[in-house]
Amino acid sequence: MDLNLKSKVFIVTGGSKGIGEGITRALHAEGAHVVIATRSEGAVTEDLITELTTFGAEAIAVYGDLQDTQNCQLAVEQAIAKFGRVDGIVNNAGMNDGAGLEAGPEAFRKSISLNLFHYYDLVHFALPWLKKSHGAIVNVSSKVALTGQGGTSGYAAAKGAQLALTREWAAELLPFSIRVNAVLPAEVMTPLYRKWLGNTFSDPDAKEQEIVSKIPLEKRMTTKKEMAAMVAFLLSDQSSHTTGQFMSVDGGYVHLDRSIT
Ligand code: NAP
Repeated sequence: MDLNLKSKVFIVTGGSKGIGEGITRALHAEGAHVVIATRSEGAVTEDLITELTTFGAEAIAVYGDLQDTQNCQLAVEQAIAKFGRVDGIVNNAGMNDGAGLEAGPEAFRKSISLNLFHYYDLVHFALPWLKKSHGAIVNVSSKVALTGQGGTSGYAAAKGAQLALTREWAAELLPFSIRVNAVLPAEVMTPLYRKWLGNTFSDPDAKEQEIVSKIPLEKRMTTKKEMAAMVAFLLSDQSSHTTGQFMSVDGGYVHLDRSIT
């Protein structure tokens, strides 16, 4: 199946690490150019760029905290300066910061800022270019939007809002043939996930095994590659009549009968 992504241009937030890195690699493997918009200066190493460009596509990094609206604008400007077009946005950067009911109003607002506003800002600034290319948007949400988790009000609210915006934008952008979909990871081993296990549990390995034992399909975590394959498909012409959808890529974790596990 040809995804027809060759020479197309995608902005992937948090695209140098974890699920985002998987998405960058998958898009490159299809010959697409990627603008990696991420926070930590130097996160996109020369080695990574060289490794990525072996596929014949190019990667550029745009650094800055996306909570600052200007950095969202900059990512789009850099994409246009380098490649002259934007074919899609992958809103992926975020973190489960555990701002629960006890944490208070300031922590709640900070969590929303960490996880939500930049999803809107980036699409806002990219909109004229997406209209030109009839592009696609993928919002990386979370199972937490559907299941809750406890102790993470801000993250849950932001992830739920990302799903609402997926439907809202899918409706608003129909006249431009811009498709908007969401993917919902559940358990994917990434630097962030590893850190959470280490910081939260006295025996992280035992906790990991306990979690894995409850994942219906093959009792294993979803890989970054499996997440990225769904994102690449949703960005591609092969999903040309799919919009406003929430795709749980989670080995049946959220939707299958609990009695199975
Ligand atoms: P990760 O390993 O921490 O990677 C996230 C990347 O995004 C990092 O490079 C991070 O930069 C960047 N980032 C985060 N906030 C940013 C900001 N404000 N401005 C610019 N860059 C920012 O995380 P992940 O586990 O791959 O998660 C990716 C997405 O999947 C998130 O939206 C997360 O909520 C969602 N998700 C993941 C799982 C899972 O099991 N892993 C489950 C459900 C949902 P730094 O390196 O500077 O921190």
